[in-house]
Amino acid sequence: CGIVGYVGHRQALDVVLNGLRRLEYRGYDSAGVAVLTDAGLTVERKAGRLANLEARLAEVGVDSFAGTAGMGHTRWATHGAPIDRNSHPHRDATGRVAVVHNGIIENFAALRAELEAAGVELASDTDSETAAHLIAREYGAAKERGGGLAEAVRTVCRRLEGAFTLVVSHADEPDLIVAARRSSPLVVGLGDGETFVASDVAAFIEHTREAVELGQDQLVEITRDGYRVTDFHGEDAPVKPFTVDWDLSA
Ligand code: GLU
Repeated sequence: CGIVGYVGHRQALDVVLNGLRRLEYRGYDSAGVAVLTDAGLTVERKAGRLANLEARLAEVGVDSFAGTAGMGHTRWATHGAPIDRNSHPHRDATGRVAVVHNGIIENFAALRAELEAAGVELASDTDSETAAHLIAREYGAAKERGGGLAEAVRTVCRRLEGAFTLVVSHADEPDLIVAARRSSPLVVGLGDGETFVASDVAAFIEHTREAVELGQDQLVEITRDGYRVTDFHGEDAPVKPFTVDWDLSA
């Protein structure tokens, strides 16, 4: 339902939680965050209001979420009950890949069957989790071809049917967030030494008004210094920069 991703110089947990708060008006049933820390990906997810997630974060201690890249999600369940383990971010079995997803992956049953046949144990009832496992499995091959996370996400996006905005990170590439879209919104926010992705500019408008809208079947790689947009085959794609001119007080 609501998506935020961040790479910058501030604590990602704060930026992401703030962004999710700005998206609360859309409605949701669960929420979760992932931060790239020195120890890898730290994830926490909770059914119910953002306040439940924040209470949980206070319990585990926000110190374990120290890091300046991360993502967050507010979920409106379509596949799987609104319970903790179905909340996003979803991870692969190694915990090195984290994914948040808006929309519906229509061919998820076939993808789940394929993963299960390959011995993958799925931890949730969602369509979304399949993307995390598929990306993790493509990552090695992508590296061998001289690519990395973006390449792996492109390969998987070409296999997905339906509507999706995906935000993905890999613990091996801690300074990068990859996001992709088909028939579901995705915007990039360009700050000074920080870059955002979100399902709606409302998530980052307090930090920057310089934005880029992604087109159909496009992927963006964001770092602290900027962004690159390609299609799902890796060709550079035309971008549509714009300035958000809303009145924030409205
Ligand atoms: N289909 C996904 C799920 O049920 C994502 C729902 C959403 O857009 O929040 O988990």
